[in-house]
Amino acid sequence: MTIKTRFAPSPTGHLHVGNIRTALHNWMFAKKQGGTFLLRLDDTDAERSKEDYVDAIRADLAWLGLIADEEQRQSARFDRYAEHLAKLKADGRVYPAFETAQELDLKRKIQLGRGKPPIYDRAALDLTPEQIAAFESEGRKPHWRFKLDHDKPIIWTDLIRGEQNFDPALLSDPVILREDGSWLYMLPSAIDDIEMEITHVVRGEDHVANTAVQIQMFEALGAKPPEFAHEALLVGTEGKLSKRLGSLGVSSFREKKIEPQAIVALLARIGTSDPVEPIVDAEQLIATFDFARFGRAPARFDEEELVQLNQKIVHLLDYADVKDRLPDAMDADGWAVIRPNLHDMGDVDQWWQVVTGPIAPPEFSPEDREFLAIAHKKLEDLEASSDLWKALTGALKESTGRKGKPLFMPLRQALTGLDHGPDMNVLLPLIGRDESLKRLAITIA
Ligand code: GLU
Repeated sequence: MTIKTRFAPSPTGHLHVGNIRTALHNWMFAKKQGGTFLLRLDDTDAERSKEDYVDAIRADLAWLGLIADEEQRQSARFDRYAEHLAKLKADGRVYPAFETAQELDLKRKIQLGRGKPPIYDRAALDLTPEQIAAFESEGRKPHWRFKLDHDKPIIWTDLIRGEQNFDPALLSDPVILREDGSWLYMLPSAIDDIEMEITHVVRGEDHVANTAVQIQMFEALGAKPPEFAHEALLVGTEGKLSKRLGSLGVSSFREKKIEPQAIVALLARIGTSDPVEPIVDAEQLIATFDFARFGRAPARFDEEELVQLNQKIVHLLDYADVKDRLPDAMDADGWAVIRPNLHDMGDVDQWWQVVTGPIAPPEFSPEDREFLAIAHKKLEDLEASSDLWKALTGALKESTGRKGKPLFMPLRQALTGLDHGPDMNVLLPLIGRDESLKRLAITIA
């Protein structure tokens, strides 16, 4: 059996970190099993689905490296849904209902007022053919409900949650098609999962009750249900579902200079028994992916943890990973020197300017100016080499008697404008002998 997973966003908005996590886990599981990862756009809602969001979803997944092997759109499949609906009608598994939204709302309020769960009372099942004809002659159109089989419990073994057991009598018969002919999520999703040969449905635990309903739909459609893995939801550091997480997506990550590898490394591991580690190579993360390691407690998403992980990831990135985003003149040596000083890729330009100049040196005391004048002379006598810093400080130590901080700090400040930064051994050759002479000349002028 070829494993096939799907990520099924509705293009009615941008992906947020919770969706991204679901996409990632579907992708990782498919890759681990040598299977296929499908992007299914759940765009049955013509009004709210936007092409811009479709493009944004594709771009976000591409940026994260979650490339879909196949793409499908529900809006291209309405004929298929209608065919299946016709069969379900013939089998008596769906029924028309004419209640207005207001009437349904009232029913729910009454039930809740009596302390009962707001389950649809199936009044439409009692409509006589005459009553239905009368509604239709008034020009009223029905919505359609799927008739749950109340006779046996719905049972499945969830790959994360274990044994699940639902009493169908405690669920409402779901509306599948609206009065205006538009599809609700429930049935098209089950039809697609069957026809697209999805073997594993991986999604948030907010879908558990939908799964119970959909298992009956799979069976009514003559198919064996896929495997299900419902993951605990993502929460913020304050321990609850936050609005903030709902608006955190790829564009905010990019703005904050978070690398895709950092997001992948974090979202691959939070909520699991494996530690969050700075792993750049997704293959390594895929190798450890296992639903058995997912916990039942919510996964905690900590933006500060992401920032710290991102820094560690940046320090592991190879020149080839980043070269397109570096200043033109910056080569692999430049990257190697700058990299350990970066908090994120947004710091590159600032450090590269330390190499290329101009820099703004501080004011020096008369003693330091004298010392730097000697440094200028010594440097003039030296040849450009990879040992330039050692040679310069060695010569200065001998002639001035300075050592430690009084020896190194004025030089670092005069040559870089800063009192911290890359190792001067590797930085000085990068700045170069001539440019260094210029910088020293300016400070002593
Ligand atoms: N479009 C649905 C959603 O975004 C898909 C749920 C599913 O994975 O079946 O919630």
